[in-house]
Parts: sequence; C-alpha cells; structure tokens
Amino acid sequence: MLTDYHLHLRPDEEGTPPQRYFTAENVDRYLAAAESAGIAELGVSEHVHRFRQALELWRHPFWEEQAVDDLDAYCEFVGGTPLRLGIECDFVPGAEDRTASMLEAREFDYVVGSVHFVGEEAVDHPGWDVWERRGDPDAVWRRYFETLAECARSGLFDVLAHPDLVKVWGSARPLPDRDLRHYYEPAVEAIAESGIAVEVSTAGLRKPVGELYPAPAFAEMCVEAGACFSLSSDAHLPEQVGYGYDRALTFLAELGVEEIAVFDGRARRLEPLGAANGEN
Ligand SMILES: [Zn+2]
Ligand SMILES: [Zn+2]
Repeated sequence: MLTDYHLHLRPDEEGTPPQRYFTAENVDRYLAAAESAGIAELGVSEHVHRFRQALELWRHPFWEEQAVDDLDAYCEFVGGTPLRLGIECDFVPGAEDRTASMLEAREFDYVVGSVHFVGEEAVDHPGWDVWERRGDPDAVWRRYFETLAECARSGLFDVLAHPDLVKVWGSARPLPDRDLRHYYEPAVEAIAESGIAVEVSTAGLRKPVGELYPAPAFAEMCVEAGACFSLSSDAHLPEQVGYGYDRALTFLAELGVEEIAVFDGRARRLEPLGAANGEN
C-alpha cells in the first residue's frame, strides 16, 4: 500500500479561503492524482494555525494573522469526502493539555505533529527567521532536535512530520560543524520511547535543500531504534500528490523498510509497502 497523509488542499499563501479549496471539485483533483500514482489512502492535514481554535494553544503573531477558519467546519467538510481526516498540529511547549483537548474533541484518523518554531522563531519561515535572529547553527540545530524530541514524547501525535525540517534552506544557511548524528540522538531516543511513526516526506525534494526528510543517517538511526515510518508528499497542490515517491520508495527499500503505517480513527496498523497499480 501507498499513502499520502500529510497534505494540504491549498497553498500556504495569503488569499486562499477554504470556500475556494475545500470543494468537491478540488478533492476530486487530489483523488485523481492519487489514483494515477497508485496511492490507496489519501488524507488531508491542514495546518492547525489556519484555524481560530489554534489561538487557544498559542498566540504567536503569525498565528494571530493566519487563524481565521473554523476547525469544526473543516472536520465536517473532510468527513463528507473519501479523504482521511488529519491535521498538521505544531507542538507548542506548555500547551500539551490544551492541545490534547482540542484533538480529542474531534474524530481525526491521525494527527501529524510538527516543529516549525524554536521559541518564537521559525526554521522554515523567512518572516520569523531563526537564522537571522539566533544565527549560531549549533544552537539552532540543538534546540530544534530537542523540541522535536519533546514533540515525539508528548504522546499527542501519531506521525512526526518532516523530522529534519531544520535543513530546509540547504546551503543557504550555515550547517553545524559536528557530525549531525549528534543532534539527531535525543530525537531518536524520544521516537523509540514514544513509538511515534516517522514521516518520510518528499517535500524536501521541492525545497532548497533538495533531499528527502529525514536524512539517510537520521533514518538509519530510526530503523536501528525500531521505529516505523509513514509516507507523505506534504502536497499543497493536486499535482504534488505522491511527488517524488519513486525516490522515497528506493530510500525506504535501501533502509530495509518493507511496511508503512496506516491510520484509521487514530489506530495504527502496518501494511506492506508498494503501489496499488504496481507502478512503483
Ligand atoms: Zn510542516
Ligand atoms: Zn504540511
């Protein structure tokens, strides 16, 4: 089986109101793209910060500006489609109880946990650039993976999204000097303890870094720690569904991973990895 769970029905840019993208026609475009890529399970995981309810978790100025949609209207819309219902929810340190209440009150099939921010600054957002404000790559990488470890350990999430997002800018931002496995270590420990599924995301192939998340060394450490994996494109357009899956499947095969995490009502099972149409 192939899945694409971490995806968005619209671009991240301004001026993308739900009524234009959360339509049966747009869902059909995603489903058609999934079918031609041999993807059996398609789910949507809109960013939590697009919903008003997110402000109960965090009042970061970026969220204040973005949080305009209604989470329940989203759940109701997706519930009336063949898509699995997910959400991409940032881990907000200190808001664990409020996050749990928000998630438990709704019938998600899975929750993708992500870390975009370290403190008030983001690793992937030019407007809140951690590199400009904090600079030192050793400090940024250390803090990022410590936060990722907390995210895994929180038990709030089923899938750990784009697990080394901190590398998103590639050579446009400084890399730490030491062996990167040193930074992965606390996150891998937390992944092993929590049992959270590690997302192999092809989104990195479309970003300046030009590689999959996670990096091979990080993924190998996850395999050694007994982690399981999920597979997603983080598409924001129908034509990005299943993007780069040939690369991801080769990557997983080289790691010796033969099964993929599949979710239903927040229960996980493992299914053999492979395309429904035999293409991959
Ligand atoms: Zn994300
Ligand atoms: Zn995403």
